[in-house]
Amino acid sequence: MSKIIKPIWGGRLATTAKVFGAPVSSRREKSTVPPPAKYGGRHTVTLIPGDGIGPELLNHVRELFRFSCVPVDFEVVNVCSATEDDINNAITAIRRNGVALKGNIETLHTLPASHKSRNNLLRTTLDLYANVMHCKSLPGVQTRHNNIDIMIIRENTEGEYSSLEHESVSGVVECLKIITRTNSLRIAEYAFKLAREKGRKRVTAVHKANIMKLGDGLFLQCCREVAAGYPDIAFDAMIVDNTTMQLVSKPQQFDVMVMPNLYGNVVSNVCAGLVGGPGLVPGANYGRDYAVFETATRNTGKSIADRNIANPTAMLLASCMMLDHLKLYDYATMIRNAVLTTMNETQLHTADIGGQGTTSEVVQAIMRNIQRSSRPKLYISNSML
Ligand code: ATP
Repeated sequence: MSKIIKPIWGGRLATTAKVFGAPVSSRREKSTVPPPAKYGGRHTVTLIPGDGIGPELLNHVRELFRFSCVPVDFEVVNVCSATEDDINNAITAIRRNGVALKGNIETLHTLPASHKSRNNLLRTTLDLYANVMHCKSLPGVQTRHNNIDIMIIRENTEGEYSSLEHESVSGVVECLKIITRTNSLRIAEYAFKLAREKGRKRVTAVHKANIMKLGDGLFLQCCREVAAGYPDIAFDAMIVDNTTMQLVSKPQQFDVMVMPNLYGNVVSNVCAGLVGGPGLVPGANYGRDYAVFETATRNTGKSIADRNIANPTAMLLASCMMLDHLKLYDYATMIRNAVLTTMNETQLHTADIGGQGTTSEVVQAIMRNIQRSSRPKLYISNSML
């Protein structure tokens, strides 16, 4: 079916973003400086399909980009979850291209302790210190709570993800959680800067400093210090267990949240659940030099792979965040608007949000919406030729 919808502008490459005439409502995501476009205004992005539903979702992104004449070329790097060579190839490619879009690489807990998560290796090697997830209630998706609009900033390189574990004596394991002043100040600064840039009112630091007085205590202290430099933004702190309870009872009270690595993992999954599940929310990992985009909850979805039932929304919205990062704002806005408009067509919803639609039916509908939204502008632009 995908073949019967012709690419917009008959498949010709767009020369200027102006052709869209799309509402420029896409605000720039806070990020590293993106690499400049090369080769006739085109960008090269590393594409890591990953495991499970990753490859099929990323194929849909490519299909949609081709259809929309997005000036992005993908350099595909397949990473096998078992060997270290592949992940090094992916890291080298990201160093070259500056930007990546990825599926999740499976990490089996049955593997030996020496086996590090490939996803984690990639983030730490490239120092992608800020994980950003914007959790917002979506049109057409039935959920227990409405009007949720939370930005979660998660420290992405240390904390409980240091992979430093050892069995000191038989039956006693020490698992190190690393909190550093430098990285805590860096992530707090990132959160406050982003809050200011986005016109947000409050930043909440999530911690467990009542128990981890030194580690989480340092994190909290760093957040307080940074907060002092942002008098225009309110600051408060909340213990992680209370935070999860508050989130499921009154999520609207949260604005921007900043937290160490593992709490970020838990809180982002809770928040994704609140707005409809893992298939809906995009995520980004930013460092000083590189940026990597993926779904916010980083699921593999092995059991639903290759069945044409996965929800493509999160990955498509992640690709829009990537387009924003590349300053291809009009393309990002066009695809994002089409994805959100399609969410209103509830008969097309995939099974995870209560429908019977397939992945490819959703993507087809998004293409139709792109075609519809671009038609009048195309007419004007053609008539001027
Ligand atoms: P499995 O898919 O094998 O159950 P898992 O237990 O590791 O893998 P995750 O990959 O963490 O599960 O995903 C958690 C749940 O969310 C799974 O039930 C998965 O099917 C579902 N899920 C994840 N991504 C999507 C998506 N894009 N669309 C629909 N469901 C999804």
